[in-house]
Amino acid sequence: MATTISTTVPGSGLQDVKELTRMERIGAHSHIRGLGLDDALEARTTSQGMVGQLQARKAAGVILEMIKEGKIAGRAILIAGAPGTGKTAIAMGMAQALGTDVPFTMLAASEIFSLEMSKTEALTQAFRKSIGVRIKEETELIEGEVVEIQVDRSATGAGAKTGKLTLKTTDMETIYDLGQKMIEALNKEKVTAGDVITIDKASGKITKLGRSFSRAKDYDAMGSDTRFVQCPEGELQKRKEMVHTVTLHEIDVINSRTQGFLALFSGDTGEIKTEVRDQINSKVAEWREEGKADIVPGVLFIDEVHMLDIECFSFLNRAMEDDMSPVVIMASNRGITKIRGTKYTSPHGLPIDLLDRLLIISTSPYTEKEIKQILSIRCEEEDVEMTEEAKDILTKIGIETSLRYSIHLITAASLVARKRKATEVDVEDIKRVYSLFLDEKRSVQYLKEYQQQFMFNAFGESMDVD
Ligand code: ATP
Repeated sequence: MATTISTTVPGSGLQDVKELTRMERIGAHSHIRGLGLDDALEARTTSQGMVGQLQARKAAGVILEMIKEGKIAGRAILIAGAPGTGKTAIAMGMAQALGTDVPFTMLAASEIFSLEMSKTEALTQAFRKSIGVRIKEETELIEGEVVEIQVDRSATGAGAKTGKLTLKTTDMETIYDLGQKMIEALNKEKVTAGDVITIDKASGKITKLGRSFSRAKDYDAMGSDTRFVQCPEGELQKRKEMVHTVTLHEIDVINSRTQGFLALFSGDTGEIKTEVRDQINSKVAEWREEGKADIVPGVLFIDEVHMLDIECFSFLNRAMEDDMSPVVIMASNRGITKIRGTKYTSPHGLPIDLLDRLLIISTSPYTEKEIKQILSIRCEEEDVEMTEEAKDILTKIGIETSLRYSIHLITAASLVARKRKATEVDVEDIKRVYSLFLDEKRSVQYLKEYQQQFMFNAFGESMDVD
């Protein structure tokens, strides 16, 4: 079966959809803007929305550097720690720091148990969503475009000069001619980087017009064929190189006969045939050899990894050995627990052979000061004004219950404050929402007191799920 590999992904459309969602909602981690590290990869106490957890952030930063250098494809990292200690936050920080060109896929392990596709298909798709293919395409010059003219004078020790040429013609002969003249002028020091000049096409005469960009429209009026402003090193580029990154999964979907690229919007991709993937793999390998494409190993983050079962773990073991595997980051808040699908227990619910491949980063509980700082950042993120006293009480609640519970109280308390026409959340608002919404401990207490009235009451039995 002949498959044409298409790469024209309507990526910009997808981007727009994401941006819109971000504008309307404040997510649990929207305050995280990076890992908050300095140039030496040391964690700043509070930076980019991140507070404390210095060791773990630094470790994540080291991993990040390796990912950026493309050194650790196929490795796996486990972030382990108690609930609410920032495991997901750290993964989000890594995603932010990676930038948009490196794919980052987030998956909650429970998501793969779907009726629409097998577990291994869901994992394969997640893997392929996390591998970028950076495709280089050469395009012809178009009128009105700005191209760079580069003059490398390093041989003479005079340093490089760089400039840009705004095209008023697409005739390559003319462009070359003018480019050559400009290079000569730069070399003869007639003009320097930053000068704005015109070149007369017929005589080659160069007229210096000054150094102001804002006067550019005047040159148009003068009817010059070309104007240029500042140049980098090298030679006049005949062609322009366009680079765009798509994921292997996007290429799969576009080329899957049953799905077509519209499935990228609905997310309803279904299963993709192995032969389609094989063909795409060999096509991409061909592109790599021809220098038309590079592979960008991204990151697959699997949250609640203990929810995967033994079949998935064995899939992961094998898939991570592939040379086109992303970096897999997992997170778990479990201690020694059952490996799903078996009767055996193991640390974090992961089989020993998988654990053996992992680098483990652990997160530790927060101090009172750190909790208060995280709460303050969340108040800012949610646009909530809160008095210091109220923040202190909320911090105490955070220590007694959980960080997450106290974060949740912020919006609720702000609504209560608004009801009483106050502009700032105060202690009384916190007290009110604390009594309205139970935290886990009080909820259990309540259940104990009223157990007879609930269905399927199983106090005293293990509440662990298989
Ligand atoms: P779980 O094991 O329950 O999944 P987790 O360790 O993944 O928990 P997060 O979801 O990352 O915990 O943290 C809970 C909340 O606290 C989130 O809103 C997160 O953004 C915030 N948070 C946690 N740690 C930090 C931190 N160090 N700096 C700033 N915000 C944090």
